[in-house]
Amino acid sequence: MTERRRLGVLGWPVAHSRSPAMHNAALQAFGMEDWRYQALPVPEELFAETVRALGAAGFVGANVTIPHKQAALALADRASDAARAIGAANTLTFGPDGTIAAENTDAPGLIAALGQLAGLPAKPSALVLGAGGSARAAVWALKEAGAREVSVWNRTPERATKLARELAARAVSAPERADLLVNCTSVGLIGKIEGPDRSRETRAFGAGRFGDASEAGVSPIGPRFDQPASGRLRHSLERSASEPAGLNQLGLTFDQVGEYPYVVDLVYRSDRTPLLVAARAHGAGTVDGLEILVAQGALSFELWTGREAPRDVMRRAARADDDSG
Ligand code: NAP
Repeated sequence: MTERRRLGVLGWPVAHSRSPAMHNAALQAFGMEDWRYQALPVPEELFAETVRALGAAGFVGANVTIPHKQAALALADRASDAARAIGAANTLTFGPDGTIAAENTDAPGLIAALGQLAGLPAKPSALVLGAGGSARAAVWALKEAGAREVSVWNRTPERATKLARELAARAVSAPERADLLVNCTSVGLIGKIEGPDRSRETRAFGAGRFGDASEAGVSPIGPRFDQPASGRLRHSLERSASEPAGLNQLGLTFDQVGEYPYVVDLVYRSDRTPLLVAARAHGAGTVDGLEILVAQGALSFELWTGREAPRDVMRRAARADDDSG
């Protein structure tokens, strides 16, 4: 069997992920030179067979991102209560006996990152925007952490109603005031990824090759969201941080953002999202998506390595090229 020292992030597409840079910086900080974390581009139709082969290929664990989080939970042999309640897993651990364990570190990662918001009430009211996978994790986490009320708004109201029913939250037809606003929609991504060049991503992993990321032609940090549209990922520049369109898609105006003293945006990019621009202009306490990424990644790292994650090192690596200031 291959020596077990490999980690990675499974997604489709995944070349833009900052997780490889963040985790490799952490491994380097501990001198864990025989460990390596790489991007694992895997399309949906190859996900299950690829994941089942990872343990034997030397993988200790893998993060999971869009669109595989539900499939990751479904194929695991064991899952934490959190992952089951949320219905999605972002962290898989491959046991020496071939079993796969599923965990969700998005939820505790969000709660850990909220610790940066000085003055946030111990039992805040919260409004979650979105009804996808990350919204489920956020609603579950906020309730577990003791939020006094959690409301959910979504562009497609039926999805908010379903999520609220399943997780004992409250669906609202328009954003309402709350202590804390958490954006779990993809609104604010400056460069929406329209689709990868599947032939190339498939060559990297779909044929069951577990090669090194650089060998597979997948750079640890792929094309940036703000690159001009060309090449293997087509990016459409949707809006800039100064445009109100992004806020409107969240059912909010610039002035309404001022009704939330604390604002978290899960979307990450190299500059600030429209929501965080507005929130900061109103003097709100804010947490951006890179802090959430670091918080969930640190918990995954600790699960796999048994060491306390070097969060500052991971943050610096995740924020390289960051001008969100
Ligand atoms: P998802 O399951 O695909 O859900 C997407 C959500 O965004 C849905 O609620 C969808 O509403 C909404 N949405 C999409 N386009 C919209 C638009 N134009 N106007 C209004 N609402 C829109 O995705 P997810 O996994 O929850 O992730 C959501 C975002 O969080 C992504 O940008 C992801 O990168 C980010 N994220 C970041 C981290 C981190 O570590 N920082 C972790 C997880 C996720 P409908 O139901 O109406 O389609």
